Amino acid sequence: MANKTKFKCAEIAVSLPFDRVFHYDIMKNTKRDIEIGKRVWVEFGKKDKIGYVVGFVKEAEVKNVKPVKSVIDREPIVSKKMLELCNWIKETYLCSYGQAIDATIPGVLRRGKVSVRQRKIFIPAELPPTEPSEKHDLTEEQNEALRNVLHKIETENYRAFLLHGITSSGKTEVYLQAIERVLAHGKGSIVLVPEIALTPQTVERFVSRFGNKVAVMHSALAGSVRYREWERIRQGEAKIVVGARSAIFSPVKNLGLIVVDEEHETSYKQEDAPRYHARDVAMMRARLSNCPVILGSATPSLESYYLAKKNKIELVRLTKRIYDMDLPKVKIVDMRMELATRKKIVMFSRILIDAIERVLNKNQQIIIFLNRRGFSTHVSCKKCGLVVKCKKCDSVLVHHYATKKLVCHYCNFRIPPPDICPQCKNAYMKYFGVGTEKVESELARLFPRARIGRMDTDSMSKRGSHEFMLGEFKKHKIDILVGTQMIAKGLDFPRVTLVGVVNADVTMNLPDFRAGERTFNLLTQVSGRAGRGEEGGEVIVQTYAPEHRAILCASKHDYEKFYEEEIKTRKELSFPPFTHLIKLTLRSRSESKASSASQDLKKFLEQRLKGVHILGSAPSPIAKVRGFFRWNVMLCGKNRSLMCLGLKKALKSYRKPRGMIFTIDVDPISM
Ligand code: ADP
Ligand code: ZN
Repeated sequence: MANKTKFKCAEIAVSLPFDRVFHYDIMKNTKRDIEIGKRVWVEFGKKDKIGYVVGFVKEAEVKNVKPVKSVIDREPIVSKKMLELCNWIKETYLCSYGQAIDATIPGVLRRGKVSVRQRKIFIPAELPPTEPSEKHDLTEEQNEALRNVLHKIETENYRAFLLHGITSSGKTEVYLQAIERVLAHGKGSIVLVPEIALTPQTVERFVSRFGNKVAVMHSALAGSVRYREWERIRQGEAKIVVGARSAIFSPVKNLGLIVVDEEHETSYKQEDAPRYHARDVAMMRARLSNCPVILGSATPSLESYYLAKKNKIELVRLTKRIYDMDLPKVKIVDMRMELATRKKIVMFSRILIDAIERVLNKNQQIIIFLNRRGFSTHVSCKKCGLVVKCKKCDSVLVHHYATKKLVCHYCNFRIPPPDICPQCKNAYMKYFGVGTEKVESELARLFPRARIGRMDTDSMSKRGSHEFMLGEFKKHKIDILVGTQMIAKGLDFPRVTLVGVVNADVTMNLPDFRAGERTFNLLTQVSGRAGRGEEGGEVIVQTYAPEHRAILCASKHDYEKFYEEEIKTRKELSFPPFTHLIKLTLRSRSESKASSASQDLKKFLEQRLKGVHILGSAPSPIAKVRGFFRWNVMLCGKNRSLMCLGLKKALKSYRKPRGMIFTIDVDPISM
């Protein structure tokens, strides 16, 4: 700050949900060190609090401002460009400046533990052991894709690319070679993956190609390790960052490329303030950094594909699998027929059982997918019809066999399964539905000699259990791997020649306009796990709704057709990508308070917002979580920034009822 001497006062952002900055005087003791992007201690209320310096003003707008107590950092921890990004985040997602800045720095710095100063040596965090991954000569399609991106890298221009490549078409190899070129220019890259633990093979490929130039930003890293990695990035020692959504804020120097792998994944959306979408932040960061961003997927989000169709982003396709391997054949099994002929509900169709038998005899491997954990999905009384639910949430309790408990999947509340109905006191409690645990036990009964492993959040809670299970599967110490969506992504096991989907309808019946899209994505991803080796592969999908577009199109590997039909529906119903939604949620321990407050909010906004359609108020699909009733008001409009501006203005005079929790979610990914 060359002439900050003119300024008497600093603008400070704090990590509280206030839509404003606060003024503090710059006295003698802080004058020399204070700088934009540094942390300071200030008195806030009656307590000391950390604040971020975001600007200077000549004169405070009020009298008797307190002084900045002390400056924590020797050098800024948030760059000017990052502050620009934070500013965009606060305007787009309607959070405070401080909350946005919080998201960009490691936890230890938020808590004021360390002071950031220059040039300390940081030893890289231990990286997973890897086998060297060989660099391939690119296919013609890959080369074409790479050339497009490189052009923008060389000319230092922003451009967003949508790399739509079927599973195993070589997308990752394109990222790797693009990053290599960026590195040759002395620049850095950020690679976002949906979840580090779920994509170990992808992460491994980056590490084995670029060694300790890579920083893997893992949510399981201890706070101090995370900070160390952040410092290695900030000081330019680690030039490539691979990580989940928050890695988009890594302080990479001289950014040359951003990659968002599996860009359609919902885990890119942050569920607490700031409720950002990492894909959208990536596009904004690339724009501010004058560099390209690649969004990659076999099943692009409707939002991104729509942008590509309108030429707002550039579509690049990879249409062939490497070595021209065929996509696996997908067979749909109509379970209604199975029910009619066998006169009972069965878990596995004859066709799937025969196929498993055949593949086991050939000594190959199998993946069995069901997107529902637990044993039975619910317990209910045959006499009075009561379904056992969580007391604190509205959700149905799921039976878990291993722990002999009924478990709430929202708050983890557990009770022993009742023998007697809590309502009518009769002993007719019955178990319904199927989860992965039951699938595993049924497979063990049908194929006693097969070695079976299970991967879901129940079996994988211990650290390192993913790696272990996948390692066992890779070494072929396991024949059949059963799992939830945890096994749908990114796994590359050439000996898997059969993928079985126990019930494709699980995600389809969720009360959400994206349910069809989710189902299509999941089926396509999980199908892509089959036939990655020379033996080819097949996929068997069991469903009670074989005519559903998500299932039909996924079975034909026809993204284009799915998109065309789905986008028509979205248009008819005015849903994204044709509109933007903003979800306003009110939570209370009292249902009537939550409901009436949300009705009041709706009326309040109706009088103040123009050009915005207001839906609701209505209870959330899971109306009660952890004892709080949740009611939503949904805003729907064409122009996001106008909607946000209007809402912000209106809310200035809104007083939420006491004891109520109020949250705003812009572009929510669930209803
Ligand atoms: P995707 O990311 O689209 O699923 P990958 O990049 O993982 O595809 O490629 C699939 C497999 O093919 C990987 O094992 C990869 O090492 C290999 N591969 C990628 N590109 C080539 C190439 N040009 N020649 C030979 N093998 C390749
Ligand atoms: Zn619960």
